[in-house]
Amino acid sequence: MQHYFGYIKGKEAYIEEKDALRAKQVKRIQLNEQIEIAEGERVYLCRCRRLHPLSFEVIAEITDTREPPLKLNLAFALLKGDHNELIVLKGTELGVTRFLPFISARTVVLPKGKEDNKLQRLRKIAKEGAEQCRRSLIPEVSAYASFEEIAKNARGLKLFAYEEEAIQGQNILDYAIVGESEATLLIGPEGGFTPEEAALAIDNGFNPVSLGKRILRAETAAIAGAAALLLYSER
Ligand code: SAM
Repeated sequence: MQHYFGYIKGKEAYIEEKDALRAKQVKRIQLNEQIEIAEGERVYLCRCRRLHPLSFEVIAEITDTREPPLKLNLAFALLKGDHNELIVLKGTELGVTRFLPFISARTVVLPKGKEDNKLQRLRKIAKEGAEQCRRSLIPEVSAYASFEEIAKNARGLKLFAYEEEAIQGQNILDYAIVGESEATLLIGPEGGFTPEEAALAIDNGFNPVSLGKRILRAETAAIAGAAALLLYSER
């Protein structure tokens, strides 16, 4: 079933112009076809009642939410190439609520400011990913922050994926709790965290965790860590 983020007004539902074009030209929506339209974390079953201009009738609210009970803030050090996009795409599918890209001491490619085109692209990926996996909300992609800002302002259960913990550290699943309401997971860059960053995270209440005994690439670590916590929260 097609799924879009749009607006509900009483018994009528609308989607944005560019989504309407896609629905007609790419997805070939038909008259009377049923689709889902999400607004403000709620999802509605709707029927296409006119093609030109495209308009919908609300049939019912879908009460079975696809959002996980855990609100996961995935804070990841900016990576080279298209690995940031991979993290946002896969993290969106897994149910991440908020992505927090940050700059750490070993970040290789530094952005010029707090916002840029790459960040806009990450937001577009989050929106399209959320539509594709039929989520109720579009995960937020925050402006770039420093590692210090992230460490000091983190919310919920604070977890810090630390490569030094790989072999003997506490496994991330030891912190995965059914019904936990919010968590922040920190993932380092290709070169890992510096000892000073590790100390700063711990001083700010982060628990160092292992993602298994092998050293994962940073993007794998972000996806695996998010998968572990989010899947567990839905048990
Ligand atoms: N250069 C580092 C080294 O050789 O030890 C590895 C850094 S790793 C490629 C990038 C990030 O992924 C780490 O900072 C950490 O956040 C996470 N990571 C990778 N494997 C991990 C593991 N087994 N346990 C915990 N965190 C891991």
